[in-house]
Amino acid sequence: MTQTTLLQPDTTENRVLAANVHPPGWINPEPAGRYNLVVIGGGTAGLVCAAGAAGLGARVALIERYLLGGDCLNVGCVPSKGVIRASRAVFDARTGGEFGVRGIKEVHADFGQAMERMRLLRAGISGHDSARRFRDELGVDVFIGQGSFSAPDLISVAGRELRFARAALCTGARAQAPPIPGLSEAGYLTNETVFSLTELPPRLAVIGAGPIGCELAQAFARLGSQVTLIAPQILGREDRDAAAILQEAMLREGIALELGAQVLSVETRGAEKLLRLERDARSFEVAADSILVGVGRAPNLEGLGLETAGIRYEKEGVTVSDTLRTSNPRVYAAGDICSAYKFTHMADAQARILIANALFRGRQKNSALTVPWCTYTDPEIAHVGMYEADAAARGIEVTTLTVPLSEVDRAVLDGESAGFARVHLRKGTDQMLGATLVARHAGEMISEFTLAISSGLGISAIGKAIHPYPTQAEAIKKLADAYNRSRLTPLVKRLLAAWLSWQRS
Ligand SMILES: Cc1cc2nc3c(=O)[nH]c(=O)nc-3n(C[C@H](O)[C@H](O)[C@H](O)COP(=O)(O)OP(=O)(O)OC[C@H]3O[C@@H](n4cnc5c(N)ncnc54)[C@H](O)[C@@H]3O)c2cc1C
Repeated sequence: MTQTTLLQPDTTENRVLAANVHPPGWINPEPAGRYNLVVIGGGTAGLVCAAGAAGLGARVALIERYLLGGDCLNVGCVPSKGVIRASRAVFDARTGGEFGVRGIKEVHADFGQAMERMRLLRAGISGHDSARRFRDELGVDVFIGQGSFSAPDLISVAGRELRFARAALCTGARAQAPPIPGLSEAGYLTNETVFSLTELPPRLAVIGAGPIGCELAQAFARLGSQVTLIAPQILGREDRDAAAILQEAMLREGIALELGAQVLSVETRGAEKLLRLERDARSFEVAADSILVGVGRAPNLEGLGLETAGIRYEKEGVTVSDTLRTSNPRVYAAGDICSAYKFTHMADAQARILIANALFRGRQKNSALTVPWCTYTDPEIAHVGMYEADAAARGIEVTTLTVPLSEVDRAVLDGESAGFARVHLRKGTDQMLGATLVARHAGEMISEFTLAISSGLGISAIGKAIHPYPTQAEAIKKLADAYNRSRLTPLVKRLLAAWLSWQRS
């Protein structure tokens, strides 16, 4: 994969993007002596490290081989959410009849325009990550090229040697290719190529039902593809009740689910790709025009000279301590290259830890972070902290409270009552260990839990906060009410009754 393939099609929007994140004719600066921090990788983790350190007065160099902004801006969060938004507009128009919308005969998406809109918005957002902004506004030396360690305190890029006091390894991850016979020959899309499409694949087979597979399967189905989603199960790591709601929504929207099936091989017949599947010892075929693969991420470890720098790694990524230090004490890491949680906000949070620990001898710990995440399907599924199974694995007993959205007026009025709010409390206390939300805008609502958990506030604190009526966030308040009710033990009820009876006397 190169920046040229990442910037297809060659449109005005993509040229604006390129001018920001991989400017044609960019001249690398002369290295400026010893740097406080050299950052390899200009995705979220690298950009936050570089901007944060430079902002505090450090001498910083930033190295990016393809596109500044990394996955998130170019081939991840930003384009996917742009496409999802377009698909939701189509879905809402199509289902408008329920709300009395008339005059809509047959709604269909203009895929080309939806993708153009996404590219335009992505180009606009890219200014923030631009090479010129980093150089001119933030004072960072920006090098375009492949960075690689040539000694434990030296990194080479494009024929230059950069000496460092500290380095930040932020090289991220890429799509993993499953070893399916015939798949490479047939050709397939990943997140690196799917956002370059200009025409909708009439039939799309999606292999993998993690967040990326689920989000794009639903979006492409809404935009008009006939989608088949193939995976062991929907969102295998998520709360099972939450995943079940999404599964029902997908079936309702006409996505063919081949769950528990394994892809044995792929064959090309004319323009068609035939996927041979097996389930319960029975084999069958699925025909598609395109295949999208989303089966996990592989860390970008190659060509970095990690052995030369004495940096240990495994197939999951670079090995780091809880303070994000690698086995080379001068080198720290942040983001997808070392994190179990592969999210932009996690890359950002780790970059902040890195700056404190690498440059200012801080002792901030990765394990102290309270990490939320969200899958941007419809409904969205957002989670923070532990699942019940995590608590069980640590021998912690929990009380789980759930409020279905069918009990929340705003969700009912919005026609969005398929969902719930759930919290896991340490048994016998109001301490929240984890929470799951399934709602159309669950991602916007989860931060209330995150703030409470990270600040050590119990669910009683949420109960004290007035929530505007009618909002879907009232589901969270109702969880607090449920907790308060659970404290009304028979003894407390008897005492209250006695008190009230005495008042009447
Ligand atoms: C389709 C999709 C949707 C996503 N949606 C979301 C979402 O909605 N929310 C969310 O939080 N997360 C989302 N993510 C995950 C998110 O994109 C990543 O977690 C985030 O980009 C990680 O940032 P990073 O800086 O660690 O790595 P990256 O963004 O991968 O950046 C690493 C950079 O390092 C560069 N690099 C690698 N090796 C070298 C080298 N040797 N020399 C120079 N440069 C090098 C790469 O070119 C790349 O630009 C999504 C991911 C995908 C694929």
